[in-house]
Amino acid sequence: MNHGSKTASETPLMLVLDNISKRYSGNELPVLRGISLEVRESELLALLGPSGSGKSTLLHVAGLLDDPTEGNLFICGKNSKLLSDNEKTDLRLSKIGFVYQYHHLLQEFSALENVMLPQLLKEVPRKIAKDKALLLLKEFGLENKAHSRPSELSGGQKQRVAIARALANDPAILLADEPTGNLDHETALMVFDDLMEITKKTKMSAIIATHNYELAEKMSMKYTISEGVLLKK
Ligand code: ADP
Repeated sequence: MNHGSKTASETPLMLVLDNISKRYSGNELPVLRGISLEVRESELLALLGPSGSGKSTLLHVAGLLDDPTEGNLFICGKNSKLLSDNEKTDLRLSKIGFVYQYHHLLQEFSALENVMLPQLLKEVPRKIAKDKALLLLKEFGLENKAHSRPSELSGGQKQRVAIARALANDPAILLADEPTGNLDHETALMVFDDLMEITKKTKMSAIIATHNYELAEKMSMKYTISEGVLLKK
């Protein structure tokens, strides 16, 4: 009998891709061809592959930002095909954090307000949203920058705010599309280490697309997309 750590089959499945294909209209070939993948709680997956191989497409489909052409997607046990648009929006807001290569912070808002925003969209009371945002900024060493606008922050600081924003609603799954791709080597390593630390602390699952093998080595599993197929490395 196992009294210690959970076995793989007992660890909750957070994300399941079941035979997912994606073909963009007008394109002859599908970008994703029959991809199946199971991501359990706390698993960190690196997604490697050259530019144009379909990493962003896979993350968009997994994050309910785009529909697959074929196949089924389950997020925290919910089949995306059975969800209305509103239910998808709610699920995305509460269960998925998305980080892009470019920070996409709202320039007219402070760092604090940017991190509060996803919570306010989820109708979290303002005071609670503010306290949570301050806590997250502190975790990323940005407590002194809470009232700064994005234009007053360095590249690394902006990306940390973007990550804090993605984590604001305590997502179960983090999907990140080359989150450190715009940063210099040293800053990329520091931001990535912060990200790894917080995923471990929160037991979040993550799929992180990166070109950087050094960063991919820090994650529990590495996959690559080649000709639309996902290969374990
Ligand atoms: P990666 O993230 O690995 O660079 P992408 O998922 O962005 O790859 O792109 C994979 C392929 O799909 C590319 O050939 C790209 O041109 C194509 N593609 C991406 N988005 C669209 C779209 N909205 N419409 C048509 N083709 C697209």
